[in-house]
Amino acid sequence: MWRATVLTLYPELFPGPLNASILGRGAADGHWTLDTVNIRDFSDNKYGSVDDTPAGGGAGLVMRADILAAAIDSAPRNDRPILCLSPRGKPLTQARARSLSQGPGLIALCGRFEGIDERIFEARGVEEVSIGDFVLAGGEIAAMALIEACVRLIPGVLGSASSLGEESFEDGLLEYPQYTRPREFEGRAIPDVLLSGDHKKIAEWRQKMAEEITRTRRPDLFEGFSSNGPIRRDNNKEPKR
Ligand code: SAH
Repeated sequence: MWRATVLTLYPELFPGPLNASILGRGAADGHWTLDTVNIRDFSDNKYGSVDDTPAGGGAGLVMRADILAAAIDSAPRNDRPILCLSPRGKPLTQARARSLSQGPGLIALCGRFEGIDERIFEARGVEEVSIGDFVLAGGEIAAMALIEACVRLIPGVLGSASSLGEESFEDGLLEYPQYTRPREFEGRAIPDVLLSGDHKKIAEWRQKMAEEITRTRRPDLFEGFSSNGPIRRDNNKEPKR
């Protein structure tokens, strides 16, 4: 079973949203499981502190490497990568989430305060992962985002596999516009082609719209798409051209 272990100072935040809807059902059905480790349990003093002032001076507090190491060592490894949520990390992508979803799971280390003593990364083979170019107050919401992105890709968690294949990023493009009833909403109609019943025309329209939306909203993504044709995907690798 795919397993996430979250190392955090706020274990009470979990599973939180990860227990709602399809992810909650997926856990109940035995597709995945989540446990937490309270980093504070590994404090070596009666105050339960896990941090100290930065070497070299400056504001804030830094989480101690020795305490984090003890917390990490308490979690069964089972070949799982240890990922530290960090704005300095490699940006999370759909391809990475897919490849993680096909492995045994992950161990997520959530930072707080100014950050984490640098020595832990090499000492325990911890890789830093970012969920975007902005700064959160702690790694917990980032860990939830990472775990959610992975878990919904575990076979059996999402109902129909075909709805995954056409999603944003899966073919290098953002998704085409979606519509449902009513046929007219505040004077706005559903595009005629979608009601035509002509599946070939519908597919062509969706492809054209996906390309147009990607080109205007995310020229960076469209660059990779247009100059190389559609990005083809092997199941657990980075996108290949
Ligand atoms: N001083 C640090 C930021 C600390 S924010 C810096 O400038 O890099 C506190 C914690 O929030 C971090 O240790 C990290 O675990 C988490 N965090 C903040 N922003 C994040 C992001 N974009 N992605 C993932 N984790 C993030």
